[in-house]
Amino acid sequence: MKNNIFENGKKLPLMEDFYTIQGEGFHAGKPAYFIRIGGCDIGCSWCDSKASWNIEHNKLIDINEIVEKVNKLPVKAVVVTGGEPCKYNLEPLCNLLKFNNIETYIETSGAYKLTGKWNWICLSPKRNSPPLKELLSIANELKVIIFDELDFKWAEENKKKVNKSCKLFLQPEWSRYEKNIFKIVDYVKINPEWNISLQIHKFMHIP
Ligand code: SF4
Repeated sequence: MKNNIFENGKKLPLMEDFYTIQGEGFHAGKPAYFIRIGGCDIGCSWCDSKASWNIEHNKLIDINEIVEKVNKLPVKAVVVTGGEPCKYNLEPLCNLLKFNNIETYIETSGAYKLTGKWNWICLSPKRNSPPLKELLSIANELKVIIFDELDFKWAEENKKKVNKSCKLFLQPEWSRYEKNIFKIVDYVKINPEWNISLQIHKFMHIP
């Protein structure tokens, strides 16, 4: 890839970064600084971050510049998301965040090898590009997006492969929330090992 994969992780194609409230999954409701890195070739039809797919639209930013912004705020945890952030070497970014006593959380499809040290790994596997075994074994959280009926089966397939302490979430795909939420509620009542994740930031109208 270009520029030796952006100087081996010292620069990243930043799409956006902002301090907000985590809206999804296990850490929902907690403040977190989001770093959205551009570039994704997974191609989910319902993707709500399609603008992140093409890295040409993103400016390459030095990770020091990103962490400087984080340090100006009372941030306890950073969520690195995408796009698919694992396309890049994330070790330099993780090291820098850890050096500054900031917790590191990642959201990934698991389709690429994970680099860096993470306090929390949220794996959101996609049917058209299944996760690597190593990601399934270390994920702290499995978050499956429910777009259609086949996603329940996909969720169960992945559940069998994650570690025993992994937290399990089903999350309605936003554009089909009304159509699917009651099916998900019924499913979780019958399969209580699952929890429901809602994108509460969207209900709060915050990023
Ligand atoms: Fe969009 Fe994420 Fe799917 Fe990539 S993996 S296409 S960013 S939903």
